[in-house]
Amino acid sequence: MNTIYLDHAATTKPDKEVLETMRRVQETCWMNASAAYDGAFEAKKEINAARRAAASLLGTMPQEVYFTSCGTESNNWVFSAFRGKTVLLSAIEHSSVLNAARGQGCRVTLVSPNSQGVIEPDTIEKALTPDTALISVMWANNETGVIQPIKEISQIARSRGITFHTDAVQAFGHIPVDAGLCDYLSVSAHKLYGPKGVGLMYMKQGKGLSALLCGGGQEFGCRSGTENTASIAGFGTAIGLAQADLKDRALREKALTDEMIGLLTDAIPGSFVPGACADRLPGVFSIFLPAQTSEKMIAMLDLRGICVSGGAACAGNQKAHGSTYEAMGIDEKHVIRISVGRHTTWDEILYAARQIVELSDR
Ligand code: PLP
Repeated sequence: MNTIYLDHAATTKPDKEVLETMRRVQETCWMNASAAYDGAFEAKKEINAARRAAASLLGTMPQEVYFTSCGTESNNWVFSAFRGKTVLLSAIEHSSVLNAARGQGCRVTLVSPNSQGVIEPDTIEKALTPDTALISVMWANNETGVIQPIKEISQIARSRGITFHTDAVQAFGHIPVDAGLCDYLSVSAHKLYGPKGVGLMYMKQGKGLSALLCGGGQEFGCRSGTENTASIAGFGTAIGLAQADLKDRALREKALTDEMIGLLTDAIPGSFVPGACADRLPGVFSIFLPAQTSEKMIAMLDLRGICVSGGAACAGNQKAHGSTYEAMGIDEKHVIRISVGRHTTWDEILYAARQIVELSDR
């Protein structure tokens, strides 16, 4: 039985070209990138090429890009600089934002989404106090796929001189992301067909944070640790591939998800898409199934070789806070998330939709 993978928001399979880059770099550029001989310089060149690729897709300067080990590290890095300060977060942030802010002892103010899963700029504005030091709102939500009004929120932050961070882990490589709108921005390679264990942080020039990891001074003295050259280079290849097919891929993924949404909502009474009226990522949607639990649906689909999820895939869905669906007033026990990718086929979509319809009231 072939697996039909419809959980690209959880992670993506590394692209063949990414794997080739990683293998080549492991074999030929394994020397320590900080060393002073020629071979080490080759490693440094690989890292710099990846930095340029990231900067190009983010619309920034390469020296504003810092490689980290994952999106979670990037998010933690931001909050480590706001210990004890008042931070304004949306209630639908990923756990690596919510738990990092709390873990760093920030004074957290949460802003709820509207019924479509959108964080309205007005609600942000009303929740600000003279003490608010940071606003953090994700670019796109990992459960509903809803894209947030980052430009407007950025303007609010800027007009008040408040630092603005966005977690762009789900958005980067899938829709245009302009890092210039914020001071800090987090990205993860494994969401765009890159390897796991590598991410990046964009830090606006002049807004450099003190190091989260202190040591040998890699990454412009801000993130020490011998560079993971092969993974960073693989990440660079993934970014180049994402940039090359961004528009076409988005159109294709939107067509696939629109088709599936139509098939499911037509056939399953009472079903609906959380955030249906909002701007969403082209490849991600969730669906409420009134007569079935997500737990049972995921297990039954798994038996038929179809992978979907019930929301964030972190640690078996064990969360210390409520889900985006809860924040939207939707019972998360009845919601599954479907996310297509570069290689999802029409046949897979049609087959999976048939199975979900068949299992929707068993
Ligand atoms: N932020 C969002 C919105 C995510 O979806 C994820 C992963 O699912 C993360 C952060 C964490 O990224 P990483 O897995 O690279 O730590």
